[in-house]
Amino acid sequence: MGPAMEYRRFGKTNEMLSVITLGGMRFKHGWDAPRDRLPKDALDNCIDSTRRAFECGINHLETAYGYMKSEHLFGAALKEIGRPREEYRVMTKGAPMTGEETRALVELQLAALGLDHVDFYGWHGINNEERLQAAVMPGGPVETLHRLREEGLIRHVGFSTHAPLSIILRAIDTGLFSFVNLHYYYFFQRNLAAVKRAGEKDLGVFIISPNEKGGLLWNPSDKVRSLCEPLSAIEFNGRFCLSHPEVTTLSMGMHAPRHFKQNLAILGGGENFSATDWPVQERMDAVWPGISNRCTLCDECLPCPEEINIPEVLRFRNLLNGFDMKAYGRYRYNMLEGKGHWFPGTFASKCTECGDCLPRCPEHLDIPRLLKETHRQLFSLPTFIGNRLSDFKSAVLEFVRKIISR
Ligand code: SF4
Ligand code: SF4
Repeated sequence: MGPAMEYRRFGKTNEMLSVITLGGMRFKHGWDAPRDRLPKDALDNCIDSTRRAFECGINHLETAYGYMKSEHLFGAALKEIGRPREEYRVMTKGAPMTGEETRALVELQLAALGLDHVDFYGWHGINNEERLQAAVMPGGPVETLHRLREEGLIRHVGFSTHAPLSIILRAIDTGLFSFVNLHYYYFFQRNLAAVKRAGEKDLGVFIISPNEKGGLLWNPSDKVRSLCEPLSAIEFNGRFCLSHPEVTTLSMGMHAPRHFKQNLAILGGGENFSATDWPVQERMDAVWPGISNRCTLCDECLPCPEEINIPEVLRFRNLLNGFDMKAYGRYRYNMLEGKGHWFPGTFASKCTECGDCLPRCPEHLDIPRLLKETHRQLFSLPTFIGNRLSDFKSAVLEFVRKIISR
């Protein structure tokens, strides 16, 4: 029997959520079209995972229309498990672009989930200026979501984001949202100001993907592993996130019962950053000043005419040089140019050495040289091709599904 689950208030929604959320993005076969055909092994896995989550005290399930089968899997699993509805909370997300689309999409999602309401609905991916404007325009999707809230189909409206900090702050400041799903982890602290602003405005804060996008922490580099001892990298990072009182819950990426043990270990049984945890953070923090030509992620060098996401590329360089995080750097770097607004930017090899960015860098970094060096270290043709093939397969399956459903 491990430490008891902790519950925190999800900002102004006033809902008490478990600090660990069962996220539904990565269930077995979850990304295979069609969305409503559920292979038996996928459904069994979702039922077992959801049941295990409830047994552990997890009371928050998170999904999205964009996660293909996920809403249908959760819907079937919840029906099978039969847990009383008032004992758990459900978040789903979608990115309808107009008011009319919004109502139709939410009705479709509720049908897939087998629910008459969801507790939290997040507009999915306020990732840039254009999407922020589309979401919040008068008569647009967010306004319609609030109408659906008044009608009882949704209890609270929020948003998820992969945007630069300035856009996240503006979205929070619209006053239209009760919660925000964002990236913030030990290895990416750029959004601290957004976490703080959300806290000041009493928005609930949900951390996206702390283990995967937060550093592939189930398979850390030897250096990270040894710096984190006696904690695991997952434990350290989870407790680091929860040491911020503004943070309510973390979506840990568990998608099979075998993943629970290592993730539940983040529960400290009391204060989440204990006397044992602080020396780990001190050891980790001591690495940063020694990173040569360290980028501080200030964004001052942007925009680049070649659309290179300079701070993100140099963040991978920081992590490679400071923490030997080559697997993580390769995994993320080779996603560039393939994920649209979810992960914008071109490869660093596109740098023409025009020099525009140089006078804007307060650290006086030789940005073109550092970019080229990072590209040499992280670009991997097999990974690049593998990513494109899997995106292509998903696009083809979705296209076929649309044709069949016509
Ligand atoms: S020097 Fe390279 S990175 Fe800097 S602005 Fe020009 S193309 Fe972009
Ligand atoms: S201006 Fe310099 S320190 Fe700031 S993000 Fe760009 S490269 Fe990094």
